[in-house]
Amino acid sequence: MHTRKRILVTGGAGFLGSHLCDRLVGEGHDVICADNFFTGSKDNIVHLLDNPHFELMRHDVTFPLYVEVDEIYNLACPASPVHYQYDPVQTTKTSVHGAINMLGLAKRTKAKIFQASTSEVYGDPIVHPQPESYNGNVNPIGPRSCYDEGKRCAETLFFDYKRQHNLNIRVVRIFNTYGPRMHPNDGRVVSNFIMQALRDQPITIYGDGQQTRSFCYVDDLIDGFLRMMAAPDSVTGPVNLGNPHEFTIKQLAETVIQLTGASSELISAPLPADDPLQRQPDIGLAKTHLNWEPSIQLEAGLVKTIAYFRNLVAG
Ligand code: NAD
Ligand code: UDP
Repeated sequence: MHTRKRILVTGGAGFLGSHLCDRLVGEGHDVICADNFFTGSKDNIVHLLDNPHFELMRHDVTFPLYVEVDEIYNLACPASPVHYQYDPVQTTKTSVHGAINMLGLAKRTKAKIFQASTSEVYGDPIVHPQPESYNGNVNPIGPRSCYDEGKRCAETLFFDYKRQHNLNIRVVRIFNTYGPRMHPNDGRVVSNFIMQALRDQPITIYGDGQQTRSFCYVDDLIDGFLRMMAAPDSVTGPVNLGNPHEFTIKQLAETVIQLTGASSELISAPLPADDPLQRQPDIGLAKTHLNWEPSIQLEAGLVKTIAYFRNLVAG
């Protein structure tokens, strides 16, 4: 029998959060979306606003929240380096105070709570691909630290709340994910390259373009979120979620040019400090515990994403 749950999604007006709200409402749940609109937008969830099973709250997770819920997905946090470095102190507060507030809420309501952690907890990894057992290589005082260390501390809090207060927790480490509703000026590589190509502007490759990333399409990722939440309580994570197919940034640029038919040239720009050289998830745990692996490969996902951005540029 299907039971309607009351589910809180923090950061629900953002890229990933809005897709998650769609899926949860679609599955017949009551969803509360809490967002301070720092990087998210009402446009991402406007189609849900008339649905009586969807509720939007303007709320900053660094402040306590009192609602009655069965499950919490904690996604609130800017994810693009440009945005999380804009106000680094607020980024750390969002991860750490946000986690404390949401864990407190979970403790009071006895809700199951999910944390959107990140591959950034591995920093510039020396072990490749990265399994969950790898403790990472993170610079604690660099420009990316507010995000990386904030997310690491949030993981610590999740596991301490589990040990100390017996909370039912789920932690996933998300690797680079892309798709419709990424902010066009978000600064992340997929949205940057597509926007540049659609405008026939030069494609900005930071460094020599030989650094690698592994790109997961948003629908695959959200499927992994739901499987993680539905898994037996012993599956706390952390579990890596991402697409293990690894590409150089130069290969990504060439694919975007080919799929858009752009006449853009590739230009070189300085490599940001602490930019990881390589990144690829080991998804063995997700396969074993969640029976999950991505099904949408880069070209197919890029075609859908390009169509979204084309509409945005035209509109
Ligand atoms: P996003 O920037 O589109 O979404 C983040 C959302 O959180 C936005 O709607 C923003 O307004 C909101 N937010 C930020 N600070 C807040 C605060 N203090 N209170 C309430 N809301 C706040 O980014 P995204 O790609 O959707 O990322 C969602 C989550 O997934 C983040 O926690 C991010 O760290 C994590 N993640 C994403 C990726 C990825 O590739 N997309 C990779 C690793 C981890
Ligand atoms: N990048 C790039 N050009 C851009 C934006 C990003 O070459 O216009 C590179 C960036 O230096 C990094 C990779 O693409 O090596 C992924 O960057 P992104 O900001 O998307 O995410 P990260 O994985 O670094 O957090």
